Amino acid sequence: MKVLVTGGAGYIGSHVVKVLARAGHDVVILDNLGEGHRRAVVSGRLVVGDLNDRPLVEELLAAEKVEAVIHLAAHSIVPESVVRPEKYFRNNLVSGLNLLDAMLASGCRYLVFSSTAAVYGEPERVPIEEDHPTLPTNPYGESKLFFEAILRRYEEAHGLRFISLRYFNAAGADPEGELGEDHDPETHLVPIILQTALGLRSAVRIFGTDYPTPDGTCIRDYIHVSDLAEAHLLALNALRAGKHSSIYNLGNGEGFSVREVLQAAEQVVGRPIPAVEAPRRPGDPAVLVASSERAQKELGWQPRYADLRVIISTAWNWHRSHPAGYGD
Ligand code: UDP
Repeated sequence: MKVLVTGGAGYIGSHVVKVLARAGHDVVILDNLGEGHRRAVVSGRLVVGDLNDRPLVEELLAAEKVEAVIHLAAHSIVPESVVRPEKYFRNNLVSGLNLLDAMLASGCRYLVFSSTAAVYGEPERVPIEEDHPTLPTNPYGESKLFFEAILRRYEEAHGLRFISLRYFNAAGADPEGELGEDHDPETHLVPIILQTALGLRSAVRIFGTDYPTPDGTCIRDYIHVSDLAEAHLLALNALRAGKHSSIYNLGNGEGFSVREVLQAAEQVVGRPIPAVEAPRRPGDPAVLVASSERAQKELGWQPRYADLRVIISTAWNWHRSHPAGYGD
């Protein structure tokens, strides 16, 4: 199938492209390289451009005869979204609308959307199922939730068919060592811990030690990036097989606190990693843990790298061999 992956040079996108290409799909990547990396494109054809460039997107969809789109291009840093909501709404909503309208113009009707656990906000119950109330605590989560509402309306009015994948905390790296996580600035816990282990940072800051959790630090559900990537392939196949539009959580169903992640990383790297306590970070819910039963049942999704230590080991292999990331 001819598939366009927006944001395909980014962390999750690059892993998605690899899985799609390996499954025999013909992949075109649209990425403005604002946050992505040319070297993260190991298969498919990269077009450097922006979703805000509507003529470019329309031309690309038509010229390449794109049959399905996987839309990952977005800003995704929770604390930044709190202080710069306009950046998140403009980019994640306005450029997303450009994409949808270009899809309608070219007759492309299948979309897999990269959504987030941040749509739920502070959960009333865990593990979180897809019908749990959505009340995001930050503009990032809100931008993704609004876009899901837009998708439903486009389905009703225009016959668009979509699957929205709500990721919990993506972590780890390509087990074959080709791809990894390289953000600038880096804000995510696992790479920050491993950069600290490499001596590239002086200490990990633990954001908040007074949350209502057993050890006072936030609990998250860490999911291997290649397992996430696999779910995109399954979603694409499901849409092509005529499955109705739907939303799926993607997580391992087990929560780990910031301190537990730190301990697991110390076991993986085999030495202590310096950490200091710091104030809470704005926008962070205390606990996010997924129920992914629906994805397992309906898509046949089964995580292969569910163990936190395995997830961290794959990331450690990448960071050790790429201390400067992709080096661009
Ligand atoms: N976190 C932390 N120190 C850091 C980065 C993150 O304590 O340097 C915490 C953060 O407050 C959250 C968890 O680790 O509770 C996961 O954060 P991350 O940014 O990796 O992902 P998010 O949950 O924001 O998507």
